[in-house]
Amino acid sequence: MPGPLAVYVHIPFCTIKCGYCDFNAYAGLDALKDAYARALLREAEAAAPLLAGRTISSVGFGGGTPGEFPARHIAALLDLLRSLAPFEPRAEVTLEVNPGTSSPPYLRDLRAAGVTRLSVGAQSFHPAELAFLDRIHSPEATAAAVAAARDAGFESLNLDLIYGLPGQSLEAWLASLDAALRLQADHLSCYALTVEEGTPLARRIARGQLRLPDSDLAADMYDAASDLLAAAGYRQYELSNWARPGHESRHNIAYWTDRDYLALGAGAHGYLGGERYENIAHPRDYIAAVEAAPPGQPRPALARITTPPPPAQAADWLALRLRLLEGFSPAEFERRWSEPLHEAVGSVLREAARAGLLELTPRVRLTHRGRLLHGEIAARLLACLEETAPRLPGLAARAAPVPPGHPGPLSPSG
Ligand code: SF4
Repeated sequence: MPGPLAVYVHIPFCTIKCGYCDFNAYAGLDALKDAYARALLREAEAAAPLLAGRTISSVGFGGGTPGEFPARHIAALLDLLRSLAPFEPRAEVTLEVNPGTSSPPYLRDLRAAGVTRLSVGAQSFHPAELAFLDRIHSPEATAAAVAAARDAGFESLNLDLIYGLPGQSLEAWLASLDAALRLQADHLSCYALTVEEGTPLARRIARGQLRLPDSDLAADMYDAASDLLAAAGYRQYELSNWARPGHESRHNIAYWTDRDYLALGAGAHGYLGGERYENIAHPRDYIAAVEAAPPGQPRPALARITTPPPPAQAADWLALRLRLLEGFSPAEFERRWSEPLHEAVGSVLREAARAGLLELTPRVRLTHRGRLLHGEIAARLLACLEETAPRLPGLAARAAPVPPGHPGPLSPSG
């Protein structure tokens, strides 16, 4: 019996393209929205064989700015998904909104459509930082969006915050956190600003016009968030995520725990039966591909399948599990990969434990210091697996399981 499925829906439209963003997001394509909505419905209908016999545990609308997509299109897609596969009783339907474009009637329509959880892109509570990030909203707009979301009946609200901005002081970061706490969000995601190649931000940094805070200050900001949020009753459950009890993001947990997720929309990434795949990125090309696809093609906008070799898959599994503060047990690894954990990566785990970065019992999990070095530890695990996998028959030979209802490998197209 295949397990429950998460569904990711990508909405690639934004009012402007922020200077730090390398997401598959586009400004100035609003005229495509109706055609895009029709293509999403066709893509979901075509995916019926992938949904057969499964329940849907969560739907996540990301982007882009899904909160600028007409609520009637969100409602139509959710109705269609419900007709294709039953939603679990506590299914989470989460959607990202921009505080600058979240009117009370719009939020009420989203709630009526079946959206259960809103993720509000607050980012900062300082006007100058918001301007630096090219955000179109003010701190007051975030407060208004939160109030409107509560009025509309949303019982689970996330606020996204970014720290580690050029010129940002620890005090400024603490003030943003404090403002977020006053809004009584149920969940907080705090991400360090990352400089993505090819973005205007990366060019300004390369020209020496901007400097990111040094790593010690960024680490202090992370520690301060951990302390402040713990004192306020939020439990950290993932490297960058804190929640009040019962408000952890079930949709994101599916990504971190090796669960299948179906991708819908331009550039959306999916994971089915051990196979990672991605859709055609540009909305115009995506719409054209879906419209032109012959019947019977369950992934009509497929751009590529990327099934990494087993050592990389196992390294991904470990890196994702280590993002969760609960970590994992050696038995879970062995069940998934048919090899004892200590044979696969024991040397790296022991070294990290000696350095105070990992706990090994009763579960393997990062320490507070280790959380700051997750990327480095993940890289070492991959290097180790590449060395050990050839002598571990279970790991080297392991084929990805193909769940019933999944039609098996497809040829890349588009
Ligand atoms: S609103 Fe979000 S997705 Fe859109 S450009 Fe800005 S950061 Fe990127």
